[in-house]
Amino acid sequence: MHCLDCRERATTSTAVGVCHDCGAAVCETHARVDARPVRRGTVLGAPDEAVARTVRCPKCAEARAA
Ligand SMILES: [Zn+2]
Ligand SMILES: [Zn+2]
Repeated sequence: MHCLDCRERATTSTAVGVCHDCGAAVCETHARVDARPVRRGTVLGAPDEAVARTVRCPKCAEARAA
């Protein structure tokens, strides 16, 4: 799979991820990785937060930041 943003620039890069919002493939240069805290464990147990990640393309990352 190739990066959609690179394709729009008439170049080709191998994708390293897929945008969480629009499903576009993104290369290392265009991938925007967000840290996302995730709560796990039961309601009665001690809260345990882990950090997961979300990959987005530049367009969706920009749209979210606006
Ligand atoms: Zn790219
Ligand atoms: Zn996207």
